[in-house]
Amino acid sequence: MPGEVILKAENLVKYYPIQAGVLRRTVGQVKAVDGVSFELHKGETLGIVGESGCGKSTLGRMLMRLEEPTGGKLTFNGVDVYSQRGAAMRRLRRDIQIVFQDPYTSLNPRKTVGDIIGEPFEIHPDAVPKGGRRRRVQELLDLVGLNPEHINRYPHQFSGGQRQRIGIARGVALNPKVLICDEPVSALDVSVQAQVVNLLEKLQDELGLAYVFIAHDLSVVRHISDRVGVMYLGKMVELGDEDQIYSRPTHPYTQALLSAVPVPDPTLRNTRRQIVLSGDVPSPANPPSGCRFHTRCFKAQARCSTDDPALVLRPDGEGAHESACHFAEARAVI
Ligand code: SF4
Repeated sequence: MPGEVILKAENLVKYYPIQAGVLRRTVGQVKAVDGVSFELHKGETLGIVGESGCGKSTLGRMLMRLEEPTGGKLTFNGVDVYSQRGAAMRRLRRDIQIVFQDPYTSLNPRKTVGDIIGEPFEIHPDAVPKGGRRRRVQELLDLVGLNPEHINRYPHQFSGGQRQRIGIARGVALNPKVLICDEPVSALDVSVQAQVVNLLEKLQDELGLAYVFIAHDLSVVRHISDRVGVMYLGKMVELGDEDQIYSRPTHPYTQALLSAVPVPDPTLRNTRRQIVLSGDVPSPANPPSGCRFHTRCFKAQARCSTDDPALVLRPDGEGAHESACHFAEARAVI
């Protein structure tokens, strides 16, 4: 049973103006996120997958309000995030934190690990009294599996996986309720990825965190997610429980993505039919009419180029989950 809704996105939109000429006139718009809605429940992990450029990282930044929306509404525990100002917004920021993709560039090389993890306490001084901050940072280092005695070391003295642990410690320093994980393991070796994912799962259990886990690697997302949303060109095209998305995908784009996931079993590998998508992802500055996927879809019909399919519940063989396809039909892929 899903818990209470903690974060609710309704029709989120983010367009970036394209400017040209000496007068920097707006000549178009990049539709990075175009009407995305979902709910995140307490203590759950919602995975967001899609190819690069599909808008998933922009969406993650909008959930942190690092990007102001062009439209739509975001509520945290029933509070309208985008209408908050000053102290009220600062309070909200304590509850929604982010872990960035690249542990090599997201940590200031001139600061000690103690300063980096303690940074949130400078912005939110009432979170931990000044005298207790060093001890709190050491507790956080211990929590993420690092040696508390290394508090005075610099980022370059740690491996990639350890640096991401530092980023995670900073992310949970203020005891947030929601952690946005933006490709948190993509820059790491495969062997280290599992350790960081295991750490995130452990922290979720211990701290009751809800995650929005953004990644392009479908295997990692499957491992950690309770529910999964698939994005294509700024839109959510399929959304459901992890099992529904991976065992009974109904959207042709999800089916194509899954058919490209490497499988270790040679028998399965030989019997599986890979769906090869034609062409490149179109530009979000000029997305196709109707269903945005119609220029690459192996099931497209005449209607697809004019009618934009809504993301609604559609049968998946055993029940129903949300899919934005006029001809949604369950198909086992892996
Ligand atoms: Fe393909 Fe048409 Fe479904 Fe879009 S609506 S995914 S083009 S079949």
